[in-house]
Amino acid sequence: MLPPYKLASREWQRENTVVRIGDCQVGGDAPVVIAGPCAVEDEEMLVRLACRLKAMGVHMLRGGAYKPRTSPYTFQGLGAEGLRMLHAAGRAAGLPVVTELTDVRHLAEVCRYADVIQIGSRNMQNFGLLREVGRLRVPVLLKRGFAATIEEWLLAAEYILVGGNREVILCERGIRSFEPYTRNTFDINAVAAVKHLSHLPLVADPSHGTGRRELVLPVARAALAAGADGVMLEVHPQPDKALSDGPQSLLPGDLAGFMEELRGAGRRRPRVIA
Ligand code: PEP
Ligand code: MN
Repeated sequence: MLPPYKLASREWQRENTVVRIGDCQVGGDAPVVIAGPCAVEDEEMLVRLACRLKAMGVHMLRGGAYKPRTSPYTFQGLGAEGLRMLHAAGRAAGLPVVTELTDVRHLAEVCRYADVIQIGSRNMQNFGLLREVGRLRVPVLLKRGFAATIEEWLLAAEYILVGGNREVILCERGIRSFEPYTRNTFDINAVAAVKHLSHLPLVADPSHGTGRRELVLPVARAALAAGADGVMLEVHPQPDKALSDGPQSLLPGDLAGFMEELRGAGRRRPRVIA
C-alpha cells in the first residue's frame, strides 16, 4: 500500500532521485552548497560575490528578485530587473541560479532566467502555482511551509510530480514553534524522516531555520549528518546593510572555512537508506 503521497514515496521508487543542474548533482554522492544573498540588491556586488563563492567551491547561486515579505512596507525585491542581474552574475561566475517564483504571472520571466525555481515556504500549498511548475521540465526547490507537516509537504511535492516534473528538490527551512529565541525551529527530525520516506533529494536551509548567523553553520553540519543532500545558506558581503535577512546572513569568509571542512569530509557523509 502506498502512502497518500505516491510518486514521492520510497515505496514507489527505492533509489534516490538525483537532480542534475549543469555539472551539479543534487542527491548524488557529494553534498551541494547553494549560497548567495537573501535578495538581489545590486549587480556589481552580486557579480563580485558570485565569483568569490565559485572560487570557494559553492555549486549554485541563490538570490530573490520577488521577495515574499511579511510587511508590505519592507523591500519587496527588484523584480524582473533582479532576475536579469542574478542571471548575469551566475553566468559571470559560472554558477547556475536559484530564485523564487511567488506568482504565476511571473512564470515566463522566471523560467527565462532561473536554472532552479524556488517555491517558498509561504507558497508551499499554493496549489495553482504547484500545478504550473509541475508542467515544466525545470528543477523545482520546494521549501517546507513553516506550519506544514511532513505529510503535507510531501503531498505538495506530489502536485509537482504528478504533473510530470520529476525534478523536485525538497528544502527544510524550519517551522514555527513556541521558541522565540530563534526565528524558526530547524526540524532535524524532518531531514532524517524525509530521507527515509522519500527518494527525493533534500537540502537544508539553516539560515531561515535559525534566523541567527552564529547558529547557521552548526545546524548546517547537523543537517548533513542527518542525511541532507546539501545546504542553502544566505551570504552577504555587508550583512548590516542587507535589505533583507541580514541577521542570519553569513559573511563570505565564514563560508570559506565551511567549504574547506566539506572538502575534508568528502564522500564520508552518512548515506541514509530506507
Ligand atoms: C528565502 O529563501 O529567502 C525565503 C523567503 O525563504 P522561505 O520561503 O523559506 O521563508
Ligand atoms: Mn531570506
